[in-house]
Amino acid sequence: MRLVLLGPPGAGKGTQSARLQEKYKIPQLSTGDMLRAAVKAATPIGLQAKAIMAAGSLVPDEIVIGIVAERIEEPDAKQGFILDGFPRTVNQAEALAEMLKAKNMSLDAVIELKVDEAALLARIEKRARETMAGGGVVRHDDSPEVVRARLDAYRTQTAPVVAYYAAKKALTTVDGMAPIAAVSTAIDKVLGG
Ligand code: ADP
Repeated sequence: MRLVLLGPPGAGKGTQSARLQEKYKIPQLSTGDMLRAAVKAATPIGLQAKAIMAAGSLVPDEIVIGIVAERIEEPDAKQGFILDGFPRTVNQAEALAEMLKAKNMSLDAVIELKVDEAALLARIEKRARETMAGGGVVRHDDSPEVVRARLDAYRTQTAPVVAYYAAKKALTTVDGMAPIAAVSTAIDKVLGG
């Protein structure tokens, strides 16, 4: 199963990816997590990405495309994967199509989690409060100003990816405003179980 989850920050992609990873025994490939790991390890990519991510902007396509191309070659991705946070631009979507084509592979589903913007800000604020209450470290790009920048990036650069897959008749939209369990059920239905 090869799956793409699309949706703005706070839409629930991470929650659903983690569940799908268990259910289908395929890895969740989160470009955000991979980039955060690179920043933490201060790799050359991490050093390049750090300030961009802190500002809520998108890391250049060639960097992210390179990371994903390498990651899907790993043995654990052979049986499939869930892409979370990628593709985030039409250019990335086209690169993904090329990568898969070269391997004679295709996507089984592209699922968009649709959530309205007012709810997103509230969700991300709640996530930060809960993380803090639990003694965890809040992502510093979860501050309200940076969240706004991330939502802007979504609107201008990632929303066209939704249109790209819709035009290819490859898109299924799920109501991300529904309770988590209902979202899970809706996704399972799309995936045929
Ligand atoms: P969220 O989905 O909550 O916005 P992510 O963890 O997916 O957060 O991404 C965090 C940041 O990492 C983004 O704001 C962006 O700077 C960078 N990033 C992640 N994935 C990509 C991508 N596919 N292309 C460009 N930048 C990315």
